[in-house]
Amino acid sequence: MINHKGPACDLLVISAHTDDAEIGLGGTIRLLADKGRRVWAVDLTRGELGTNATPDERWVESQQASAVLGLAGRAQLDLPDGFIDSTDREQVSRVVAVIRRLKPRWIVTAPDPVRHPDHRQTPELVVRASFLSRLVALQPEKTGGRLWKDGETWTEPAERWEPEAVFSVCPDNGAPAVIFDISATWPAKQQALACYASQFSRQDGRVSTWINDDVFMEKIERRARTWGSRGGVELGEALASLSFPVMTDLPVERWGR
Ligand SMILES: [Zn+2]
Repeated sequence: MINHKGPACDLLVISAHTDDAEIGLGGTIRLLADKGRRVWAVDLTRGELGTNATPDERWVESQQASAVLGLAGRAQLDLPDGFIDSTDREQVSRVVAVIRRLKPRWIVTAPDPVRHPDHRQTPELVVRASFLSRLVALQPEKTGGRLWKDGETWTEPAERWEPEAVFSVCPDNGAPAVIFDISATWPAKQQALACYASQFSRQDGRVSTWINDDVFMEKIERRARTWGSRGGVELGEALASLSFPVMTDLPVERWGR
């Protein structure tokens, strides 16, 4: 059992689809959770355009993965899968409401902004929402969506909030701002990914996709080894900066290790 301490949310991972947080940051999430950090994941869509499995089946899988990673909580909004739009006022407003409710220190968007149009739009939407969340005059709509973890509700009033920094999962050809050492939590990341059998396994007559090919998992491991070697450790996950933390002193507590 993990005992969380500190603020309501140390790190908020905002992704388009249920498995994105695990693919991009599974090792980091578990690493920080093991240190008592409160990490939340928010999935913007229900994944209704996914090739395999229904949104409800994917939600069950994501709850299992959330428990494996020690997430403090997870929310799933119902923005339209395939049509995330960083200029859509209502979509941005929904994310502002989440940020104000959770008051995260750091925000990371996952996965890296490539290929899928939702993955390209998500970082832009998150940067916009992170900025607008500090503007008192903006009154967002209710958050909505569904929550993992009993006893959590979204009914609290949402006051303005300014996160310290916003990052994205670093693209393979990008410049990392931070590398987390996930050597110790790599097995937990694999275990969390295995929870998404409907997405990453071809058993039970599922349709072949590029993510349920064994090559996909090999790519995730290769990426972890590459970032690890860049940081002088065995396995790593890298973040690229979208909004720099502004410092007046060294951090009170060290992040990572
Ligand atoms: Zn995705």
